[in-house]
Amino acid sequence: MADLSRLSLNTITVREQWSLAQCIEGCARHGIPAIGPWRDKLQEMGVAAAARQIRDAGLQVSGLCRGGMFHLPDAIADNRRAIDEAAAIGAPCLVMVCGGLPPGSKDLAGARRRVEDGLAEILPQARAAGVTIALEPLHPMTCADRSVLSTTAQALEMAERLGEGVGLALDVYHIWWDPDLAPSVRRAAGRIAAFHVCDWLVPTQDLVLDRGMIGDGVIDVPGIRALMEGAGYAGLIEVEIMSAQDWWRRDPDEVLRVVKARFAPMC
Ligand code: ZN
Repeated sequence: MADLSRLSLNTITVREQWSLAQCIEGCARHGIPAIGPWRDKLQEMGVAAAARQIRDAGLQVSGLCRGGMFHLPDAIADNRRAIDEAAAIGAPCLVMVCGGLPPGSKDLAGARRRVEDGLAEILPQARAAGVTIALEPLHPMTCADRSVLSTTAQALEMAERLGEGVGLALDVYHIWWDPDLAPSVRRAAGRIAAFHVCDWLVPTQDLVLDRGMIGDGVIDVPGIRALMEGAGYAGLIEVEIMSAQDWWRRDPDEVLRVVKARFAPMC
Protein backbone atom coordinates (compact mmCIF):
# COMPACT_ATOMS: atom_id res chain seq x y z
CA MET A 1 0.00 0.00 0.00
CA ALA A 2 1.30 3.42 -0.94
CA ASP A 3 1.82 5.76 1.99
CA LEU A 4 -0.72 8.56 1.68
CA SER A 5 -0.67 9.50 5.36
CA ARG A 6 0.76 12.99 4.67
CA LEU A 7 -1.36 13.75 1.60
CA SER A 8 -3.70 16.72 1.71
CA LEU A 9 -5.88 17.79 -1.20
CA ASN A 10 -5.78 21.51 -1.80
CA THR A 11 -9.29 21.94 -3.11
CA ILE A 12 -8.29 24.30 -5.90
CA THR A 13 -7.01 21.19 -7.69
CA VAL A 14 -10.62 20.35 -8.59
CA ARG A 15 -12.15 23.80 -8.18
CA GLU A 16 -13.99 23.81 -11.50
CA GLN A 17 -15.52 20.38 -10.94
CA TRP A 18 -16.42 20.16 -7.24
CA SER A 19 -17.96 22.15 -4.42
CA LEU A 20 -16.27 21.94 -1.01
CA ALA A 21 -18.86 19.38 0.13
CA GLN A 22 -17.96 17.22 -2.87
CA CYS A 23 -14.24 17.64 -2.13
CA ILE A 24 -14.71 16.48 1.46
CA GLU A 25 -16.75 13.50 0.32
CA GLY A 26 -14.21 12.78 -2.44
CA CYS A 27 -11.24 12.82 -0.06
CA ALA A 28 -13.02 10.43 2.29
CA ARG A 29 -13.96 8.11 -0.58
CA HIS A 30 -10.42 8.10 -2.02
CA GLY A 31 -8.71 7.59 1.33
CA ILE A 32 -7.05 11.02 1.28
CA PRO A 33 -6.63 11.91 4.95
CA ALA A 34 -6.50 15.72 4.80
CA ILE A 35 -7.87 18.73 2.98
CA GLY A 36 -6.82 22.34 2.38
CA PRO A 37 -9.88 24.44 1.46
CA TRP A 38 -10.08 27.82 -0.26
CA ARG A 39 -12.17 30.56 1.26
CA ASP A 40 -14.52 31.18 -1.66
CA LYS A 41 -15.77 27.60 -1.59
CA LEU A 42 -15.79 27.59 2.20
CA GLN A 43 -18.02 30.67 2.30
CA GLU A 44 -20.23 29.23 -0.41
CA MET A 45 -20.82 26.11 1.70
CA GLY A 46 -21.02 27.93 5.02
CA VAL A 47 -18.22 27.75 7.56
CA ALA A 48 -20.17 25.87 10.25
CA ALA A 49 -21.51 23.27 7.81
CA ALA A 50 -18.04 22.74 6.35
CA ALA A 51 -16.47 22.38 9.79
CA ARG A 52 -19.07 19.76 10.67
CA GLN A 53 -18.69 17.75 7.46
CA ILE A 54 -14.87 17.80 7.65
CA ARG A 55 -15.03 16.56 11.24
CA ASP A 56 -17.62 13.89 10.45
CA ALA A 57 -15.49 12.66 7.53
CA GLY A 58 -12.51 12.33 9.89
CA LEU A 59 -10.31 14.59 7.75
CA GLN A 60 -7.42 16.65 9.02
CA VAL A 61 -7.11 20.24 7.75
CA SER A 62 -3.69 21.29 6.46
CA GLY A 63 -4.43 25.00 6.13
CA LEU A 64 -6.82 27.61 4.77
CA CYS A 65 -6.10 29.44 1.51
CA ARG A 66 -5.83 32.33 1.65
CA GLY A 67 -5.36 35.61 3.44
CA GLY A 68 -3.07 38.51 2.62
CA MET A 69 -3.52 40.91 -0.31
CA PHE A 70 -2.52 43.81 1.90
CA HIS A 71 -2.43 46.19 -1.08
CA LEU A 72 -6.23 46.10 -1.23
CA PRO A 73 -8.30 48.60 0.75
CA ASP A 74 -10.25 46.28 3.09
CA ALA A 75 -7.38 43.84 3.70
CA ILE A 76 -7.29 44.06 7.49
CA ALA A 77 -11.00 43.33 7.95
CA ASP A 78 -10.86 40.54 5.40
CA ASN A 79 -7.83 38.94 7.06
CA ARG A 80 -9.59 39.09 10.42
CA ARG A 81 -12.49 37.16 8.89
CA ALA A 82 -10.03 34.67 7.39
CA ILE A 83 -8.48 33.99 10.81
CA ASP A 84 -11.93 33.29 12.26
CA GLU A 85 -12.73 30.96 9.36
CA ALA A 86 -9.44 29.09 9.77
CA ALA A 87 -10.06 28.61 13.49
CA ALA A 88 -13.63 27.45 12.85
CA ILE A 89 -12.55 24.61 10.54
CA GLY A 90 -9.57 23.62 12.67
CA ALA A 91 -6.95 24.83 10.18
CA PRO A 92 -3.55 25.06 11.87
CA CYS A 93 -2.49 27.84 9.53
CA LEU A 94 -3.78 30.60 7.30
CA VAL A 95 -1.77 30.73 4.07
CA MET A 96 -0.85 34.29 3.16
CA VAL A 97 -0.43 35.59 -0.35
CA CYS A 98 0.75 38.92 0.88
CA GLY A 99 -0.20 41.22 -1.97
CA GLY A 100 1.50 43.40 -4.57
CA LEU A 101 1.78 47.10 -5.27
CA PRO A 102 -1.23 49.30 -4.53
CA PRO A 103 -2.85 50.57 -7.77
CA GLY A 104 -0.71 53.27 -9.38
CA SER A 105 2.19 52.81 -6.96
CA LYS A 106 5.84 52.16 -7.82
CA ASP A 107 6.89 52.09 -4.17
CA LEU A 108 8.01 48.49 -3.71
CA ALA A 109 9.73 49.08 -0.39
CA GLY A 110 6.56 50.79 0.83
CA ALA A 111 4.44 47.85 -0.31
CA ARG A 112 6.66 45.49 1.68
CA ARG A 113 6.34 47.70 4.76
CA ARG A 114 2.59 47.74 4.28
CA VAL A 115 2.53 43.93 4.28
CA GLU A 116 4.57 43.71 7.45
CA ASP A 117 2.50 46.39 9.20
CA GLY A 118 -0.71 44.63 8.18
CA LEU A 119 0.55 41.29 9.45
CA ALA A 120 1.60 42.88 12.75
CA GLU A 121 -1.90 44.31 13.11
CA ILE A 122 -3.72 41.00 12.70
CA LEU A 123 -1.15 38.85 14.46
CA PRO A 124 -2.53 39.17 18.03
CA GLN A 125 -5.88 37.83 16.81
CA ALA A 126 -4.20 34.93 15.01
CA ARG A 127 -2.13 34.06 18.07
CA ALA A 128 -5.22 34.12 20.28
CA ALA A 129 -7.05 31.86 17.82
CA GLY A 130 -4.11 29.45 17.60
CA VAL A 131 -3.83 29.95 13.84
CA THR A 132 -0.29 30.24 12.47
CA ILE A 133 0.17 32.94 9.86
CA ALA A 134 1.96 31.13 7.01
CA LEU A 135 3.78 33.51 4.67
CA GLU A 136 3.96 32.08 1.16
CA PRO A 137 6.71 33.59 -0.97
CA LEU A 138 5.61 33.71 -4.61
CA HIS A 139 7.57 33.63 -7.86
CA PRO A 140 9.00 37.13 -8.53
CA MET A 141 6.94 37.50 -11.72
CA THR A 142 3.92 37.91 -9.44
CA CYS A 143 5.54 40.73 -7.46
CA ALA A 144 3.40 43.53 -8.93
CA ASP A 145 -0.05 42.11 -8.31
CA ARG A 146 0.19 39.16 -5.92
CA SER A 147 3.20 39.00 -3.66
CA VAL A 148 5.99 41.39 -2.82
CA LEU A 149 7.47 38.48 -0.85
CA SER A 150 9.45 36.56 -3.47
CA THR A 151 11.99 34.30 -1.80
CA THR A 152 12.11 31.87 1.08
CA ALA A 153 14.88 33.89 2.75
CA GLN A 154 12.91 37.15 2.46
CA ALA A 155 9.75 35.56 3.87
CA LEU A 156 11.75 33.96 6.68
CA GLU A 157 13.31 37.27 7.64
CA MET A 158 9.88 38.88 7.83
CA ALA A 159 8.55 35.93 9.86
CA GLU A 160 11.47 36.25 12.28
CA ARG A 161 10.87 39.99 12.73
CA LEU A 162 7.16 39.38 13.41
CA GLY A 163 7.96 36.61 15.89
CA GLU A 164 5.80 33.95 17.45
CA GLY A 165 2.86 32.64 15.46
CA VAL A 166 4.33 33.40 12.03
CA GLY A 167 5.69 30.66 9.78
CA LEU A 168 6.20 29.87 6.12
CA ALA A 169 4.09 28.14 3.48
CA LEU A 170 6.58 26.76 0.98
CA ASP A 171 5.27 25.84 -2.44
CA VAL A 172 7.60 24.06 -4.85
CA TYR A 173 6.07 26.03 -7.75
CA HIS A 174 7.32 29.29 -6.28
CA ILE A 175 10.62 28.31 -4.70
CA TRP A 176 12.22 25.67 -6.94
CA TRP A 177 14.27 28.12 -9.04
CA ASP A 178 15.93 29.86 -6.07
CA PRO A 179 19.74 29.37 -5.96
CA ASP A 180 19.63 29.94 -2.20
CA LEU A 181 16.80 27.49 -1.57
CA ALA A 182 18.73 24.84 0.36
CA PRO A 183 20.36 27.16 2.92
CA SER A 184 17.12 29.17 3.23
CA VAL A 185 15.04 26.07 3.99
CA ARG A 186 17.64 24.87 6.49
CA ARG A 187 17.45 28.25 8.25
CA ALA A 188 13.65 28.01 8.28
CA ALA A 189 13.73 24.93 10.53
CA GLY A 190 10.95 25.19 13.07
CA ARG A 191 9.03 27.78 11.06
CA ILE A 192 7.69 25.72 8.15
CA ALA A 193 3.92 25.64 8.56
CA ALA A 194 2.83 24.29 5.18
CA PHE A 195 4.31 22.55 2.15
CA HIS A 196 2.60 22.64 -1.27
CA VAL A 197 3.50 20.50 -4.28
CA CYS A 198 2.75 20.49 -8.02
CA ASP A 199 5.11 20.89 -10.98
CA TRP A 200 6.45 23.50 -13.43
CA LEU A 201 5.61 22.69 -17.03
CA VAL A 202 7.88 23.60 -19.96
CA PRO A 203 6.73 25.67 -21.65
CA THR A 204 4.29 27.10 -19.14
CA GLN A 205 1.26 28.75 -20.75
CA ASP A 206 0.23 30.84 -17.76
CA LEU A 207 2.12 31.69 -14.61
CA VAL A 208 -0.88 31.16 -12.34
CA LEU A 209 -3.24 28.72 -14.05
CA ASP A 210 -0.95 26.26 -15.83
CA ARG A 211 0.50 24.24 -12.98
CA GLY A 212 1.50 20.68 -13.75
CA MET A 213 0.75 17.44 -11.96
CA ILE A 214 3.64 16.30 -9.74
CA GLY A 215 6.06 14.43 -11.98
CA ASP A 216 5.03 16.13 -15.25
CA GLY A 217 7.48 19.05 -15.09
CA VAL A 218 11.01 20.09 -14.17
CA ILE A 219 10.82 20.51 -10.38
CA ASP A 220 12.85 18.08 -8.27
CA VAL A 221 9.93 17.42 -5.92
CA PRO A 222 11.60 14.55 -4.01
CA GLY A 223 14.72 16.71 -3.59
CA ILE A 224 12.75 19.63 -2.15
CA ARG A 225 10.72 17.25 0.02
CA ALA A 226 14.03 15.93 1.39
CA LEU A 227 15.12 19.52 2.12
CA MET A 228 11.89 20.06 4.09
CA GLU A 229 12.51 16.88 6.05
CA GLY A 230 16.07 18.00 6.72
CA ALA A 231 14.58 21.17 8.22
CA GLY A 232 12.38 19.06 10.49
CA TYR A 233 9.12 19.43 8.60
CA ALA A 234 7.05 16.28 9.07
CA GLY A 235 3.59 17.75 8.48
CA LEU A 236 1.01 17.35 5.77
CA ILE A 237 1.90 17.87 2.11
CA GLU A 238 -0.73 19.65 0.02
CA VAL A 239 -1.15 18.90 -3.64
CA GLU A 240 -2.18 22.23 -5.17
CA ILE A 241 -2.71 22.30 -8.92
CA MET A 242 -4.35 25.21 -10.70
CA SER A 243 -4.71 24.01 -14.25
CA ALA A 244 -7.35 25.75 -16.34
CA GLN A 245 -6.66 23.88 -19.58
CA ASP A 246 -5.98 20.39 -18.30
CA TRP A 247 -6.73 19.12 -14.80
CA TRP A 248 -9.73 21.41 -14.25
CA ARG A 249 -11.30 19.84 -17.35
CA ARG A 250 -10.91 16.23 -16.26
CA ASP A 251 -13.13 13.91 -14.29
CA PRO A 252 -12.34 14.83 -10.66
CA ASP A 253 -12.19 11.18 -9.58
CA GLU A 254 -9.53 10.64 -12.24
CA VAL A 255 -7.64 13.70 -10.92
CA LEU A 256 -7.64 12.27 -7.40
CA ARG A 257 -6.54 8.86 -8.63
CA VAL A 258 -3.57 10.42 -10.45
CA VAL A 259 -2.72 12.61 -7.43
CA LYS A 260 -2.56 9.51 -5.23
CA ALA A 261 -0.52 7.52 -7.75
CA ARG A 262 2.04 10.33 -8.15
CA PHE A 263 2.17 11.34 -4.50
CA ALA A 264 3.53 8.16 -2.97
CA PRO A 265 6.71 7.86 -5.05
CA MET A 266 7.36 11.64 -5.34
CA CYS A 267 6.45 12.94 -1.90
ZN1 ZN B 1 0.65 27.24 -2.59
